[in-house]
Amino acid sequence: MRLDKFVCKSTELTKAEAVKRINSGEVDVNGMVVTDEATQVHENNTVLLNDVKLKARDFRYILMHKPAGTICSNIDEFYPSLFNHLNVDNISELHIAGRLDADTTGMVLITDDGRWSFNITTPTKECSKVYRVGLSRAIADDVVLKFKAGIQLQGEKQLTRPAALEILSAKEVLLTITEGKFHQVKRMFSAVGNRVVSLHREAIGDVRVDVEVGQWRYLTDSEVQSFV
Ligand code: URA
Repeated sequence: MRLDKFVCKSTELTKAEAVKRINSGEVDVNGMVVTDEATQVHENNTVLLNDVKLKARDFRYILMHKPAGTICSNIDEFYPSLFNHLNVDNISELHIAGRLDADTTGMVLITDDGRWSFNITTPTKECSKVYRVGLSRAIADDVVLKFKAGIQLQGEKQLTRPAALEILSAKEVLLTITEGKFHQVKRMFSAVGNRVVSLHREAIGDVRVDVEVGQWRYLTDSEVQSFV
């Protein structure tokens, strides 16, 4: 990670404060003063701030049950942020591995480990996301095969990746996808002449949302490892 990020992650300094300390020659990496805040450092490098060894805080892995009417970023004019429900320190270091729309509920994974969240969001890693979907019209049986073959979404060059559709009742289905294009689920149903009226993410990979709406918990070590 970048040196300024490392300094932030191992102290209570803001980014601006960390950059100032680095630029003024107070930071030493493996025995040499480094003044460029963009320098890449690794966990096993020895980083000193005014001769005191720094140790980056452990990464955090959080599961939250997103309430309807919240957004997956820090700032919005209309909706409160999901992060308002998260009472942990250094919230600005955290990001969401696969955002949900404001009106979507359910499973959200939050972390400060960019490499880990890449495994969840990158389509080629084939990490499954399971959605319970309420529809405005009865679902046609042939949609199962259409979703399996891939759907052409407006404005996209490639078909959607194969998706598994389980019909629960005329207007309720479970959809499993391994990618997360913008408004993907809503656009997939719109492409087959239907409309999503409710959307809830039940699971990501092997981990299911198992806390009440608005609540959160840390993932267990084996849950964290299941995404590696
Ligand atoms: N697909 C959508 O359309 N919306 C979401 O929130 C998640 C997936």
